[in-house]
Amino acid sequence: MTERPESTTTRPTSTGVRQVRPRTEGWQQQKDESGRPLLQFASPKRGKPPVHLADLTPEERVAKVKELGLPGFRAKQLAKHYFTHYTSDPAAMTDLPAEGREELVAGLLPPLLTEVRRLQTDGGDTIKFLWRLHDGALVESVLMRYPGRITLCVSSQAGCGMNCPFCATGQAGLTRNMSAAEIVDQIVRANQVIASGELGGKKADDHSAERVSNIVFMGMGEPLANYARVMQAVRVMVDKKEGLGMSARGITVSTVGLVPAIRKLAAEDIPVTFALSLHAPDDELRDELIPVNSRWKVDEALDAARAYFDATGRRVSIEYALIRDMNDHAWRADLLAEKLNARGKGWVHVNPIPLNPTPGSVWDASERSVQMEFVRRLNDAGVPTTIRDTRGKEIDGACGQLVATEDDQAAAAATAG
Ligand code: SAH
Repeated sequence: MTERPESTTTRPTSTGVRQVRPRTEGWQQQKDESGRPLLQFASPKRGKPPVHLADLTPEERVAKVKELGLPGFRAKQLAKHYFTHYTSDPAAMTDLPAEGREELVAGLLPPLLTEVRRLQTDGGDTIKFLWRLHDGALVESVLMRYPGRITLCVSSQAGCGMNCPFCATGQAGLTRNMSAAEIVDQIVRANQVIASGELGGKKADDHSAERVSNIVFMGMGEPLANYARVMQAVRVMVDKKEGLGMSARGITVSTVGLVPAIRKLAAEDIPVTFALSLHAPDDELRDELIPVNSRWKVDEALDAARAYFDATGRRVSIEYALIRDMNDHAWRADLLAEKLNARGKGWVHVNPIPLNPTPGSVWDASERSVQMEFVRRLNDAGVPTTIRDTRGKEIDGACGQLVATEDDQAAAAATAG
């Protein structure tokens, strides 16, 4: 008699396996007419944020400067002030003629983000910013100092239309898309904070030359649902001459799995790091956990992720929030490994993230031993897997916790000028 294999990649029928189903408690998931979780792809119409230099290509900037009656080369000077000195203050731009300077700066570097609140943890090495946009919409970004790198988690939308029941951002739906410049300004403002020595580190060190080295699009919003603006922001981030001059591989675009947009991203000439928020290897569970799975199934999303690797040579990340008794079963680790291996070796790694608590959440992170077993099975199957350490839980700044709450609204109202 042959021994039964220790693991099985099909769903066990035994009643010994607990299976918690996704549901919400303490908040109501918005539904469409057919009773399914509402998916919002289009941005609700609101007043557009003022056009800013970072929304424009270098050619468009020159045209705009000329429109204001000034010579085109002033555009480069403004870009230098903004991207290398992190300033939008006309008083600091003494290389520009005093006459017309205010108008020039007002025309190309309008203020975009008002800081409402700053929360810190990890001895000052992690800062969560709450920003108010021109129309009162609120967004957050999280700045994290690590040994050898500084990472900023940026928002790409105010709110999010993807309605994932375990993520705080989705609970209030999508307020609107952010402009490219609103995305970029989060970085410039963070660089300002770093250069002035306000982000932890050793107090005695000179921080003036330090800046954000890594960007993760893991703040509020679904970046691929705001594709054009996100790509313009990425172009500005990597532009060495008239932008931030960051490296593309240091920029991670994370998506819930908008397959056509993933394929479009693969065809761009900027090889950013790509992350897919999978969270379940089987459609049965993912249909409930990630509402967009009703459009694009697990296999389609994985095929698109593999195609991203083929097009760019960049190893793809699979994000997997480990939720107790929901998606953390050994058989799911095996099924995930099987599906990834079926698409080849060396193209992917898995980042499990123990679930972070969100308001009204009825689920917990997996037990430590279950996390370890999940990781072990994937590694044993030849899929490199490491648990991701998420920062900022104490200040509700960790993955899935970003939401502009009513308290934040009150704080924003109190600081509104
Ligand atoms: N919309 C994009 C990016 C924002 S979320 C996306 O879904 O990928 C960034 C990451 O945090 C995603 O992998 C998301 O699934 C994960 N996340 C969301 N809520 C979480 C929670 N409560 N605990 C842990 N990770 C969570």
